[in-house]
Amino acid sequence: MKKIVVLTGAGISAESGISTFRDSDGLWENHRVEDVANFDSWEKNPDLVRQFYNERRKQVLEVQPNEAHKQLTRLENDFDVTIITQNIDNLHERAGSKKIIHLHGEITKACSVSDANEIYDIQGYELKASDIDKNGQALRPFIVFFGEAVPMIEPAIKVCEQADILIIIGTSLVVYPASGLMHYCKKGCKKYLVDPKRPNADLSGITFVQEKASVGVKKVVEEILAKELE
Ligand code: NAD
Repeated sequence: MKKIVVLTGAGISAESGISTFRDSDGLWENHRVEDVANFDSWEKNPDLVRQFYNERRKQVLEVQPNEAHKQLTRLENDFDVTIITQNIDNLHERAGSKKIIHLHGEITKACSVSDANEIYDIQGYELKASDIDKNGQALRPFIVFFGEAVPMIEPAIKVCEQADILIIIGTSLVVYPASGLMHYCKKGCKKYLVDPKRPNADLSGITFVQEKASVGVKKVVEEILAKELE
């Protein structure tokens, strides 16, 4: 079975109603990114950061996967598909994708402040300051803040090295190390990029589909199914 790797960013969830942040002058839902997404901001103002992610979680639970998330699941009948997402939402899971690597954490989960491997599902949308782990330690959102290591990058690199086809969707390709993943693909790996805006990156060797995800992903999925299974 051929291996397809899909690298997604905030743009794939835009049509579900979750805003990206680089499309709105560097603001993420009216907050400066550095105030809510840096490790320092968590250390300095945990109440604000907890509240910000509680609001994001509430929003994620209210929206639905869109056509782009759903189209990707069509590939799973005939290919070994792994989704690598920079998104913290759970829309790929809810669309039915099976193998998903979350590079930047998961909004529906919390982890212990003293051990990021101690992970809990959050019931409802609210993580409270009083919530604690089994050892009595405080919990934090299970989010990789800017300034923290990205532990899932190693498995993501391994998957990219094996890819026969890479599909990149809705990412400005500026957040390191996710932006470098495509360079681990072997020679001959067919690459697609779906985004309504051309990212400021070297796109040589990549088929650029300048469309919103709902339209562009369908085109790419149909091209792959037609070409590879003929
Ligand atoms: P980004 O905000 O930097 O870039 C978004 C990209 O999506 C842009 O290239 C834009 O042109 C494109 N886009 C906008 N509308 C689109 C559409 N309808 N279809 C396809 N593409 C569309 O996003 P990023 O590169 O993923 O980096 C942002 C970081 O912020 C990520 O690391 C992520 O963790 C976090 N974030 C996550 C979410 C989420 O979980 N849904 C939302 C906002 C930000």
